[in-house]
Amino acid sequence: MTVQQRFDTHDIFNQSPPFEDIDLFAADRALQDAVAANGAGGEAAALSAFGQRWGSAAMFDAARLANENTPKLRTFDTKGFRRDVVEFHPAYHQFMAEAFRDGMHASTWNADGTRAKAPSEVARAARYFMEAQVENGHQCPITMTRACVGALAVEPALLARLIGKIVSRRYDPRFIPWWEKDGITLGMGMTEKQGGTDVRANTTTALPAGEGYSITGHKWFMSAPMCDAFLVLAQAPGGLTCFLMPRFRPDGAVNALRFQRLKDKLGNRSNASSEVEFAEAFAWRVGEEGRGVRTIIEMVQLTRVDCVIGSAGMMRMALAQALHHTRYRTVFQRKLADQPMMRMLTADMALEMEAVTATMMRLCRSFDSAASDAKEAARARLLTPAVKYWVCKSAPAFIYEAMECLGGNGYVEELPLARLYREAPVNAIWEGSGNVMCLDVLRALSREGETARAVLGDLVATAADLPGAREAAAFIGKSFMAADGEGHARAAVEKLAMLAAAAALAESAPSVAPAFANTRLASPRGGTYGTADLAPEEITTLLDRALPAA
Ligand SMILES: Cc1cc2nc3c(=O)[nH]c(=O)nc-3n(C[C@H](O)[C@H](O)[C@H](O)COP(=O)(O)OP(=O)(O)OC[C@H]3O[C@@H](n4cnc5c(N)ncnc54)[C@H](O)[C@@H]3O)c2cc1C
Repeated sequence: MTVQQRFDTHDIFNQSPPFEDIDLFAADRALQDAVAANGAGGEAAALSAFGQRWGSAAMFDAARLANENTPKLRTFDTKGFRRDVVEFHPAYHQFMAEAFRDGMHASTWNADGTRAKAPSEVARAARYFMEAQVENGHQCPITMTRACVGALAVEPALLARLIGKIVSRRYDPRFIPWWEKDGITLGMGMTEKQGGTDVRANTTTALPAGEGYSITGHKWFMSAPMCDAFLVLAQAPGGLTCFLMPRFRPDGAVNALRFQRLKDKLGNRSNASSEVEFAEAFAWRVGEEGRGVRTIIEMVQLTRVDCVIGSAGMMRMALAQALHHTRYRTVFQRKLADQPMMRMLTADMALEMEAVTATMMRLCRSFDSAASDAKEAARARLLTPAVKYWVCKSAPAFIYEAMECLGGNGYVEELPLARLYREAPVNAIWEGSGNVMCLDVLRALSREGETARAVLGDLVATAADLPGAREAAAFIGKSFMAADGEGHARAAVEKLAMLAAAAALAESAPSVAPAFANTRLASPRGGTYGTADLAPEEITTLLDRALPAA
């Protein structure tokens, strides 16, 4: 396309070219190093092909369309009969089809529902991370579909019936019974009006009926309502229980899920989130009665990891946009990228991004090894909530700072920064909000104290040569032991995540690990990016690694 450089009144110059048609993998040294250090280096060529496809101008434009044209609930047909369907823009379906083709919803499972071998988690995370740089809303049903398999494992017969449709690489948006479809998606409904964190307060009831249960009640948030089935929690005679509720009953009739309305959300706009009533809806029980939280937690752990990767992806795109723009934009006769304060700012952000990338990939390696290595399982258990807390909470401020690097251009909707900024808080809120993550770390410490301490010991050993690592470990131990452990939990969990980040960097990006430890563990930095005391050579290394010269 030829760009018009001259208007009647002025020439157009000093604007950066579009940041598109890029290889999202090749442009990201931290990602390449973290993938290699965590066992998926053999996938580099495939990841690069993936990065080129997802970094194309067409994909960025489809993301804009999917978010500008939000889903619509069609409750009734013209004659007043219930329809309860949600219509999406074709661009949303395009993303779903692409994600399905790449196995984002299932590549970590074998065809029988068992875990795929390593490095399936790391390889999928690299792809999910690149997808998150482009479009986020469609990732909600993708995440839930892959995570639900973790919970369904307690019902092998039910899983065996469904798994072929779950691991299919063909996305099928038709509103027809699941057994007639080429591929299915799964969602979940836990949150009710009176409680989201405290799901034990659920009032939805479940009574045994025929081959399943009859469920009556409501869910206050149930995203991706066109999924083919949902894991839901309800009060059965034996207590809070997990169920799988299909959109169609086994006899082929539409199940009694009555969508009330769609949420009008800050971000996440390409994805629909519904309020729904169940009027004696059919569902299969998943796990024993009274074991609902225990059962569904298998799914929740996996969705929490995706929250981390999703937020990290958004941060990466924001940083890349900032670096790209500042390399072209001149202010006061000098490129922004050459101005000392801008260099310190973007290098500090690049350092944060290095740490986020390394930590996320190291965490995924723990998921890869958890089934055969108890230490890695303990590491995943302890660090998932801590890393979710840190990364998801970091995203809004980070994206905002990146936006400011583009000045006014960053604030308008043509670029993705405004959308990323609106999207950023959601990963911290859902799947366990910030304080809840900290409570979860405390729970892991109290229930599995010895193994958790061993994890902490491993982190210190890996980061032993880095400044501030031992002091951080001592602080973490002291804070968690304090009489008011809960009151101090945020500070301790943040430090735990920083220590995990330093250890992850020591393994995958040793050239930048000391800068991170110096500015995040050993000496305090200011409350905003750009206040870390980075040496000139550190700045150069970080900026070179963050985005290759055009
Ligand atoms: C866009 C979007 C989509 C969603 N989709 C789904 C979905 O598909 N399915 C689903 O089930 N839910 C969904 N949710 C709901 C989400 O999971 C809940 O909002 C979340 O779990 C928090 O629950 P709550 O809103 O009831 O807040 P509350 O539980 O009332 O919590 C409010 C605040 O209190 C804090 N808090 C809670 N307990 C403590 C404590 N003991 N000490 C200190 N602080 C505490 C929490 O961290 C939180 O910050 C969605 C939410 C959003 C925003």
